[in-house]
Amino acid sequence: MAVIRFYDLSGGGYQKVDGKKYIYIQADDITSACNEFVRLFNVDPCNTTCDCCGPDYAITEHRDIAAATKFDRSDWDNPEVENETVSEYFTNNDNVAYYAWTGLTEQFKDLVG
Ligand SMILES: [Zn+2]
Repeated sequence: MAVIRFYDLSGGGYQKVDGKKYIYIQADDITSACNEFVRLFNVDPCNTTCDCCGPDYAITEHRDIAAATKFDRSDWDNPEVENETVSEYFTNNDNVAYYAWTGLTEQFKDLVG
């Protein structure tokens, strides 16, 4: 399992999933995470809404949620400094969401909401 980070680049001048600029999905790979993204939000994260803006999302694969959020939790001027723990990051920011599989039920759970 990996964690895929979807960062909304506001292609065409608007956010594609209301209220969620940063979305993290636990999956085997980027393809699986993209399929899950479509199922969850009815939005294709691989779409390009506006050619001049480029892709709608920056999509990257990481080994776990700590690695996937490391840049977003860090000081932009000094990436080695983590300003928030993973827990603080999801508590302090309302435009982020993490979807992970729960082992017992094999259902997706929004760990934020
Ligand atoms: Zn544009």
